[in-house]
Amino acid sequence: DDEDVYIALYDYDARTNDDLSFRKGDKMLIINCDEGDWWRARLLQDNKEGYVPSNYIAKFSSLDSQSSGDDKIAEKNNTKIIRLKINTRKLNWFSGTIWKQIRHEGMVKHYRIRKLDIGEVFISRNSSFLTLVDLVSHYCNDADGLCYALKQACKKLEIPQTAGLSRELADKWEIDRTSVELKKKLGEGQFGEVYEGMWNRTTKVAVKTLKTGTMDKNEFLREAQLMKKLRHPKLVQLYAVCTQSEPIYIITELMCNGALQSYLKGKGKDLAVPTLIEMAAQIASGMAYLETNNYIHRDLAARNILVGMNNICKVADFGLARITLFNNLTINIFVFTHLPLIFYALLFQNDIYEVSRDTKFPIKWTAPEAALRQMFTIKSDVWSFGILLTELLGKGRMPYPGMTNRETLEQVEQGYRMPKQPNCPDRLYAIMLSCWQAEPQKRDSFETLQWKLEEFYFSDDGVYRESENI
Ligand code: ADP
Repeated sequence: DDEDVYIALYDYDARTNDDLSFRKGDKMLIINCDEGDWWRARLLQDNKEGYVPSNYIAKFSSLDSQSSGDDKIAEKNNTKIIRLKINTRKLNWFSGTIWKQIRHEGMVKHYRIRKLDIGEVFISRNSSFLTLVDLVSHYCNDADGLCYALKQACKKLEIPQTAGLSRELADKWEIDRTSVELKKKLGEGQFGEVYEGMWNRTTKVAVKTLKTGTMDKNEFLREAQLMKKLRHPKLVQLYAVCTQSEPIYIITELMCNGALQSYLKGKGKDLAVPTLIEMAAQIASGMAYLETNNYIHRDLAARNILVGMNNICKVADFGLARITLFNNLTINIFVFTHLPLIFYALLFQNDIYEVSRDTKFPIKWTAPEAALRQMFTIKSDVWSFGILLTELLGKGRMPYPGMTNRETLEQVEQGYRMPKQPNCPDRLYAIMLSCWQAEPQKRDSFETLQWKLEEFYFSDDGVYRESENI
């Protein structure tokens, strides 16, 4: 029965003796799906059995399965390819309304799919369909008023993360240090080095090593346990830790293009504004997830966003700020003794204290109430997100260029805000200003920021309308 057949949406290479390798397009039967995120499956082509990550497969008869088609078509006639993207998340958002994007010649065209009370879906009232699958296949055969007929589903740009490195590790987070091999140093952070590593000789990972004594081990373990529960496509996933001996290892997913801040200055220096806004929307989406989970980042900035293939952005180092940055002795001393001094200096306009240049405290990203009164909330993250937007538009430019930390704090307290950058669309600047409202409650939520950015080029009124071009 076709109903029980699943199709692979991505390639997957087995990592243990327990799981199954498969290629995109392979068909399989599901034997057991009661064990959470890893399902037991049997491949139709050779009857091999093993566990597969459930988010790598889709029911053969579903719309999702259509994007498992052959990518090579896109390369052959790359001139007038139209792509279709249906965002099922929005299905839940706008009840009865689904949005569809068609990309052609570098431009995104938006068509609105609506739903009749009786459940039928349509773009134009002249042709309505029982299911989305029917609608899509209709517009594949015939443009019927769209700019072109649909050719194929969008290539899935992003390979999803599995729940844990393997089925066994899905609920376990301490792993044996010997199963991790450090390969290549990727960078150096404030608290240690970061390596590209190989887990179980099969799986590429990133390994963050923590310098001895940079943080309280027990506190770190508590945080890591929490961090592992946070799973979202736009958060860099924590896979596992090695804490039995020093240095502590933090094993996360590997992001091939490194930190956003340096990416914007290098490979990404020619990115166009619509792409930058797409990236901002991804970051807002990761932050909206933290927001729903009552979690605060505390150090949101381009240096803590990591970039993968195709400009995919994910939020990294969430939670670490609390136990590293703000529990680190020197920083603690800085926050609790020096900041009141700065405040005092500002009040009396003298120079008894000048913020040292090499301090890592991110004053320029920190909301005033957080910098001055340690009031860190999701709304202080929203402030930082506004600063991050200026980094995106400015291709990694330092915020408040030409101003010292002290001047920034002083000016911002008096109502100064960074001016609009020349390439910044007015509506984006309005979003930034909303992030920088003095009163935290007046700032947008990340959920709002996410849809404002995702719908940035969407014109709401009418069907068949071209997207706004900037
Ligand atoms: P910091 O402590 O300054 O925030 P990190 O220790 O997080 O810096 O990272 C240092 C550098 O290592 C980053 O700038 C980035 O280039 C690289 N890096 C960190 N995590 C990853 C990862 N998961 N994948 C790829 N590169 C990473």
